[in-house]
Amino acid sequence: MTAAKFLTSASAPGGFPRDDVPEVAFVGRSNSGKSSAINAVTGAKKLARVSKTPGRTQLVNFFEIAPGRRVVDLPGYGFAKVSPSVRESWRGLIEAYLGRRPNLRGLVVTLDIRRGVTALDRTMLDWAESLGLPLLLLLTKADKVSRNEAAKQRGAVLREAPPGTSVAVFSALTGQGVDEARAVLERWFSGEAKDAASGQKEAPGGVHGA
Ligand code: GDP
Repeated sequence: MTAAKFLTSASAPGGFPRDDVPEVAFVGRSNSGKSSAINAVTGAKKLARVSKTPGRTQLVNFFEIAPGRRVVDLPGYGFAKVSPSVRESWRGLIEAYLGRRPNLRGLVVTLDIRRGVTALDRTMLDWAESLGLPLLLLLTKADKVSRNEAAKQRGAVLREAPPGTSVAVFSALTGQGVDEARAVLERWFSGEAKDAASGQKEAPGGVHGA
């Protein structure tokens, strides 16, 4: 996965690539560790920009992680200081992408393990469920909590998540959960997602469903 590269940014649906290359999208609250997760999972350290000023960009970024496989970085949500107009443009862009993108194979949602599922995350999960999108929740920054707390939080999130959702304890810092996340993406890209979701199997790494 070292050949990952930036393809294009879009500020409106007209800028989305027009082809049928499969895509997996990442979304999450600002500062939830989404960019760090993209970099860790794709193995390209500087692909997505880890931000000190969350909520700054309202762009959908497209990356090619291998020939015929894309990762899409959706703008983060829940940044308190954005204006209503920016929030509306975010909503339009996300709705256009998640609701009307045939290329989309699955959605990765980053959740800070210390916060769990917030109200805005809940909205995103409900929406993904209504669209029938395969979901992977990454409980990020797991290095900041004990193993016991991480396991507890994972259980709580699993109970709240739509049926068939994969939930992985994750740390971009230590690499925990990276292999599990890659395995889920692999299933989605290779078209095995539906089988895995209906079976609700537990993967060796402790990831549920897919
Ligand atoms: P984004 O706004 O959701 O894209 O989040 P970023 O990836 O930019 O990360 C937000 C902040 O959390 C940055 O200061 C990162 O260095 C930090 N961070 C991200 N992932 C981890 C992690 O796994 N462990 C720790 N300790 N910090 C992290």
